[in-house]
Amino acid sequence: MDEKDCIFCKIVRKEMDSKVVYEDDEVLAFEDINGRAPVHLLVIPKQHVANLEEIGALSDTVTKRLFEVSSEVARQHGVTEGGYAVRINNGSDAGQEVFHLHLHVLGGKRLGMP
Ligand code: AMP
Ligand code: ZN
Repeated sequence: MDEKDCIFCKIVRKEMDSKVVYEDDEVLAFEDINGRAPVHLLVIPKQHVANLEEIGALSDTVTKRLFEVSSEVARQHGVTEGGYAVRINNGSDAGQEVFHLHLHVLGGKRLGMP
């Protein structure tokens, strides 16, 4: 999957609609289209990397920003106190469907391990 056909790259380029909750030059956060918790957001680098196997292509700054933005959008959505999960499904056994690295930010209900 290259950047041309990647749905998250299309969201970054605004060729596809999404409910953006945070954006800067390097990171975008938007609502998951199929929310599985009262708060279910996706945090992505704007640069296309498939998953953790390619994380070396991201700068240290962007890698850190992914976690900082996860914390910021969680706070924005009122789940900091109750707690939230930040999850990466990496590869097919983990259920990764979109091969553009993304952090799921899930909150607003009791979350267990799968
Ligand atoms: P994963 O299984 O970790 O690859 O998760 C991919 C996530 O992307 C799923 O939770 C989907 O509901 C979500 N998703 C797929 N297409 C879109 C889209 N166009 N806008 C927002 N979220 C999407
Ligand atoms: Zn992409």
